[in-house]
Amino acid sequence: MNVYDSERMSEALNGEGYRETTNIDDADLVILNTCHIREKAAEKVYSDLGRIRQVKADRKRVGKETLVTVAGCVAQAEGAEIVRRAPVVDLVVGPQSYHRLPKLLGEIANGARNLVETEFPEEEKFTHLPERTLQEGASSTVASGPKLATAFLTIQEGCDKFCSFCVVPYTRGGEYSRAVKDIETELKRLIDRGVREVTLLGQNVNAYHGTGPDGETYSLADLLGHLANVTDIERLRYMTSHTNDMNDDLITMHRDEPKVMPYLHLPFQSGADRILAAMNRKHTRQDYLTCIEKLRVACPGLALSTDIIVGFPGESDDEFEQTISLVEEVVFAQSYSFKYSARPGTPAAGLPDQVPEEVKSKRLTRLQELLFAQQRSFNESCIGKTLPVLFERNGRKAGQLVGRSPYLQLVNVDASPELLGSIHNVEIGDAGGNSLNGVIASP
Ligand code: SAH
Ligand code: SF4
Repeated sequence: MNVYDSERMSEALNGEGYRETTNIDDADLVILNTCHIREKAAEKVYSDLGRIRQVKADRKRVGKETLVTVAGCVAQAEGAEIVRRAPVVDLVVGPQSYHRLPKLLGEIANGARNLVETEFPEEEKFTHLPERTLQEGASSTVASGPKLATAFLTIQEGCDKFCSFCVVPYTRGGEYSRAVKDIETELKRLIDRGVREVTLLGQNVNAYHGTGPDGETYSLADLLGHLANVTDIERLRYMTSHTNDMNDDLITMHRDEPKVMPYLHLPFQSGADRILAAMNRKHTRQDYLTCIEKLRVACPGLALSTDIIVGFPGESDDEFEQTISLVEEVVFAQSYSFKYSARPGTPAAGLPDQVPEEVKSKRLTRLQELLFAQQRSFNESCIGKTLPVLFERNGRKAGQLVGRSPYLQLVNVDASPELLGSIHNVEIGDAGGNSLNGVIASP
């Protein structure tokens, strides 16, 4: 979601005469878009600010001003503390106020200093942000080259679930769903710019309940069906879902709507019921397994991805083994796993029985070995198959393109750049842990 937010901030500033640069020494304005989900990400902000302070000083010596902005969830969570710890920062802006960036930068140009904007404003951010332009050179494309074939689109933000380890409900605010018409308009703009595959985003995307064009409330299943029907989008994905909101209509979309990709990211966090209860996940291990079973009946080829936390306070060896056994039982094509990180202000941070760092590290290493072996064997199971690949950018080697399979695997293929932005069948010849290699299939 931060990638998406960076694109929108960048577009909001394009209209103000700014354009993006890949070289920080040229930047009149630096925006750090930050993440507060784990301590490591949050602390990185201060080390980056140290580096930016140096850039600002060097530029000042040659008579150039540099405005420094901290955006994102660290901005939201720490607010004025940031300008206290790092006076180099001119502006702190929380995730619900990005549409106010031009106005805030105007205030700074008029002499305001150390502005902190972390309210959740009454007016809605999405109705005030300018239309999508998806510039080549926008944030997500600078690092990896043009990637206009795929895009993110936020449809839902915030969360009301309050898992005991998580900062999202505090930093992103309460759950909010955008109207179907807004989403449709944005998607059509993206398609006009060459987008063929969209990932609908939300902290709790499958809790989506937005107002439809007929005034009725649309679920995520309704929205996917609508977008599949009224636009020319070729592939639809959504992320991140919660087990409790994985209703039958949505599960059925994976069977009945060919544009919905056979891939699902569904975090389970822990395989032990006692830990799930302490996390306030409000579902059991069996609930998760039942959900997976239904999904696999509806869509036998579905590839699964997940998020897992090890070392939640009080997690015993046996409870960690239950996480391992759940991974063995389900089998994932991809995954994201983390050591529990105590976040200030969350209920779990105050629990007495925090797990020592070395124990967390050992558990994470063991879990990741298993997950990576599963990922590799899923990739190897694709050898010899023909998969439709959407080509999204040039590869590192000349003459090579990189695309995505329906299962979100990266696929490297020797192919002409004319194929960028379109879907072609690829015969998979070989597979590694992180990507596949193949050749264009003969028609
Ligand atoms: N809404 C999604 C997850 C959003 S946060 C869900 O409910 O599943 C993304 C992931 O970060 C989470 O799934 C979790 O695995 C991880 N995470 C969140 N808070 C964390 C913390 N305090 N320590 C470690 N990992 C955390
Ligand atoms: Fe955080 Fe997801 Fe739980 Fe919401 S449902 S509190 S975003 S982990």
